[in-house]
Amino acid sequence: MVKQEFKAESKRLLDMMINSIYSQREIFLRELISNASDAIDKMYYKALTDDALHFDPDHYYIKVVADKETRVLKISDTGIGMTKEELENNLGTIAKSGSLAFKKETELKDGYDIIGQFGVGFYSAFMVADVVTVISKAVGSDTAFKWESTGADGYTIVTTEKDAVGTEIILKIKENTEDENYGEYLEEYGLRAIIKKYSDFIRYPIKMDVTRKRPKEDSEGEFEEYQEEQIVNSMVPIWKKNKSELTSEDYENFYTEKRYGFDKPIKHIHLSVDGVVRYHAVLFIPENMPFDYYTKEYEKGLELYSNGVLIMNKCADLLPDYFSFVKGMVDSEDLSLNISREMLQHDRQLKVIAKNIKTKIASQLQSLLKDEREKYEQFYTSFGRQLKYGVYSDFGSHKELLQDLLMFHSSKEKKLVTLAEYVSRMPEDQKYIYYASGETYERIEKMPQTELVLEKGYEILYFTDDIDEFAIKMITTYQDKEFKSVSSGDLGIEAEESQNDTDSAENENKALFEEMKHILADKVKDVRASKRLKTHPVCLSTDGEVTIEMEKILNAMPDNQNIQAEKILEINTNHEVFSSLQDALAKDKEKLHLYTNLLYNQALLIEGLPIHDPVEFTNNICKIMV
Ligand code: ADP
Ligand code: MG
Repeated sequence: MVKQEFKAESKRLLDMMINSIYSQREIFLRELISNASDAIDKMYYKALTDDALHFDPDHYYIKVVADKETRVLKISDTGIGMTKEELENNLGTIAKSGSLAFKKETELKDGYDIIGQFGVGFYSAFMVADVVTVISKAVGSDTAFKWESTGADGYTIVTTEKDAVGTEIILKIKENTEDENYGEYLEEYGLRAIIKKYSDFIRYPIKMDVTRKRPKEDSEGEFEEYQEEQIVNSMVPIWKKNKSELTSEDYENFYTEKRYGFDKPIKHIHLSVDGVVRYHAVLFIPENMPFDYYTKEYEKGLELYSNGVLIMNKCADLLPDYFSFVKGMVDSEDLSLNISREMLQHDRQLKVIAKNIKTKIASQLQSLLKDEREKYEQFYTSFGRQLKYGVYSDFGSHKELLQDLLMFHSSKEKKLVTLAEYVSRMPEDQKYIYYASGETYERIEKMPQTELVLEKGYEILYFTDDIDEFAIKMITTYQDKEFKSVSSGDLGIEAEESQNDTDSAENENKALFEEMKHILADKVKDVRASKRLKTHPVCLSTDGEVTIEMEKILNAMPDNQNIQAEKILEINTNHEVFSSLQDALAKDKEKLHLYTNLLYNQALLIEGLPIHDPVEFTNNICKIMV
């Protein structure tokens, strides 16, 4: 028996294979089962053109048998088998794929696509086995052959006995080491789990002998073990079934089985796309937010299958960050079964699928909003923040896709409304979309700045998320309407009698405003007679882009750049305190100093901003009391 060397480059590749290509050892089983499935497919194709052959579906299966005693794991199939030449060529040369050649020669019928094409999968067996033996009998051949190898130093081929056509892969599983428990690949439970995980949707039955217990005959209370052959895989995946045959319950079961979440999905999206790239996808919008959703630990991604075989658990490239809550899977027969994540990232096919999926998710959310408002609001409560983040991110380049999915609490409706709904209700004379930012709805409701806008009968959107104002700044205009904070210096509300009053009040009291501005010189940009205050004596507003809410958020960030809003102290000239200010200006400058600072600090408190010197502030209040 002559030992054959592996063909030249094979040695190096084999080494690489064992040590680096696959990060998880357990995928050796996926590879061997995929090869077996390919071999049965080949029988199927051959039978299509060869009258002498008859494809009897019952005869075709894959069997996995483990023997703990001898540490032998055997994967056998009733597929096409290999001749001596094929054993030489296909297993003797790494990176030579017999399956790829077969694919090129045969025109494949839809849905029966062969998985193998890289010609490296087989060698993954050496990650778990010291010796790999292949016994194979090719269809139409009388002789069987035995190929055997212990790894990099070559292989032998001899004739042997085998009754039926097909292939047996026999692995002598490695001894356990300190780091690695190879023995798990001999355990019934572990093997089942691996098969379920990676090969559940292989279309031929994968059989195992399962140990079961039954009551012993003639002896009460005693049990005996027996072996029963079971099919481990589900074979037809849900995504390849006809949508009309499936119920919501089927999808919910799939969601639970796949452990996408402990909740029930709010919506499922089942796609079967037959375009430039063919793929199936089953996607879910979860009902509840995963506990770690807004943390660094959360990993987005979809399961990625190539023709029914799992190749990646969480393929992040399939989901944009703003849809990171979506769960589910994608299966494509057009995807090259790439071996590394790095390669996958640049896959053109994958990009097409990701783009496609993104638009589908957006449109499905849109119809959820339209048809099942309550469910949408529930969804939005969990994941709305992520959508707003999406609007803001990448310099607003996703706003077109996302802006109609946004909702904000409305002063008028007292519930979440969309921007479209807001605009549709705008009175003719209203120029802007008004919003108010604050910590809670309750606090915003009490903001003095809202008084004029509300009196005009205009609706106000309440912004309570950090991201809200930033996202809106990215949208800039919605249906040609600009957004305006109720705290901005100019509210853009048409002049009225009351406004003329304010203007004259400001003119008549120039000296007072000048003096107050002088007192608050380093704190505010200006002191003005307020056009928006109705009952409150004082408030802050801002000129320029940065609002007070934004200032708070920016300054809470780790890279705090001490960005300041341009603050304006507004005084209600119709309020009684105003005459006290006028009085003080005339009679007691020190008092004016005191009052001005008090009012300024009040305005800060209303905004939820820290006052500079709380002790001085309370002392000042006491001064007035005594
Ligand atoms: P790939 O599956 O990507 O082609 P592999 O390394 O997994 O690469 O397998 C190499 C080749 O060996 C296959 O293309 C196929 O021709 C042959 N082969 C492997 N396993 C079997 C099997 N169980 N039955 C028949 N042929 C097989
Ligand atoms: Mg393969």
